[in-house]
Amino acid sequence: MMGKIRTRLFVKDDICENQTLRLEKQHCHFLRNVLRLKPGEQIALFNGKDGEWLCQIEELTKGNGAVLPLERLRPQHTTPRLRLCFAPIKKDALNFVIEKATELGVTELQPVITRYTNTERVRTERLLANAIEASEQCGRLDVPVVCESIQFSQLIKELDISTSLLACVETGETEPIAKILGATAEASKGIPSSILIGPEGGFSEAEIALLQSNQFVLPVGLGPRILRADTAAVAALVIVQSNCGDWSKRPENC
Ligand code: SAH
Repeated sequence: MMGKIRTRLFVKDDICENQTLRLEKQHCHFLRNVLRLKPGEQIALFNGKDGEWLCQIEELTKGNGAVLPLERLRPQHTTPRLRLCFAPIKKDALNFVIEKATELGVTELQPVITRYTNTERVRTERLLANAIEASEQCGRLDVPVVCESIQFSQLIKELDISTSLLACVETGETEPIAKILGATAEASKGIPSSILIGPEGGFSEAEIALLQSNQFVLPVGLGPRILRADTAAVAALVIVQSNCGDWSKRPENC
């Protein structure tokens, strides 16, 4: 039977049994004013390294809050590396990508500036806040790392034998993504560690040529329709995770 769904919060501090942990102001506000929780009630905390802990609220006032970690509910485990490289897009669509990528198990979110990227500065702290919220909600024990933006040329330059980039390209020579993943699985090569999605304006011809000529890039297609960048990101992640990711596992402790 499904247990009661508990409030889960990500904290930066270490979590140790029976050692009172102070809560940040925003968490106090959320627990007190939004959820209307009171001292004595229980929540779950995780921090990306100590697993998930059942905690009892000890104190909850306007600006102060403290909890006592009672019992470890789940040990920490590592999420297999999966990096989503994406050209920044408009705010709402980008928020959608961050939320869905987090739910789908991405461990690294890498904004990449391409020729036709037409978004102002990427606010990585806002992306991280979205990733934290999505991790709290979906039961992850970690939060994806949000990297600072890099240029497309730098992304390509830094590829090496240990990383293969599944580049979703809307034009030119590609193989269907499922075919590439099938071949990778057959050769026991493991999950490709990075996926690349272009901006709404697509990749430039020069970028596509670079992707097609690099030995560490696997250019792949996502069917006969042009998908929006946010749809393309979710579609690629779903097929990668279901084919060679962690979808054989089930949610723990629900
Ligand atoms: N404006 C472009 C489309 C860009 S779609 C055009 O009209 O040609 C945004 C991104 O989503 C692309 O750069 C690519 O990474 C991905 N994408 C969308 N549809 C795709 C498809 N059918 N196959 C592979 N990638 C696709």
